[in-house]
Amino acid sequence: MSVLTEICDLFFPRYCPTCGKKIVGKDVICSECMAKVPAVPASHEFSGRNWYFDGFFYRAHYSGIMGEIIRAYKYIPRMSLSHVLSDLFLELFKRFPPPNNSVITCVPITFDSLKTKGFDHVKRLSLEVSKKINVNFLNLLEVSHQMKSQVGLSPKERKAQIIGKYSVIRKNLYKTSGIVVLLDDVFTTGATVNECSRVLKAEGASKILVYTLAKSTKK
Ligand SMILES: [Zn+2]
Repeated sequence: MSVLTEICDLFFPRYCPTCGKKIVGKDVICSECMAKVPAVPASHEFSGRNWYFDGFFYRAHYSGIMGEIIRAYKYIPRMSLSHVLSDLFLELFKRFPPPNNSVITCVPITFDSLKTKGFDHVKRLSLEVSKKINVNFLNLLEVSHQMKSQVGLSPKERKAQIIGKYSVIRKNLYKTSGIVVLLDDVFTTGATVNECSRVLKAEGASKILVYTLAKSTKK
């Protein structure tokens, strides 16, 4: 550890956002918490519904330490956590690499959400991932109607609320090969990524691969 880091630790102590323990050095999350992050799943079950996307990969289940890190990042604007999470995404992309000619995009957030959080947490992650895996990022989707928060809604309510809420930025989609990597933080019922995939396919995307940090364990 450098002298400067030691001095900073002394005057500006930092604490692990998930367990609250004091952190030394350059870590953002303490090593004990990081050690609890599960390994990348060996395979991903993907069947049983009429999905518009062609593949789905997630880094871990949305429980335990993974849930805690994502919530810490999502609800308190802690930009430093995006480095930790984009590294976790990177492990997923290394195991399940997308085709070379794909482009990365992400699920857009609503204006209300942007106002509350102060930053677009998914886009920030997507831009970091894009740099790390050397695949271009393009904004391909926008929110066409402002939605209320989906937290606490039943799967049926989520689905009804989401139909027709996203639209495609055509001029950007037409610059791509048609193979789209769609990023989101959490896959809950899949309604959001499915609707994004539906509109992208309707505008001519040929293949959509969904990558999320976590998958909800609730049925
Ligand atoms: Zn910790």
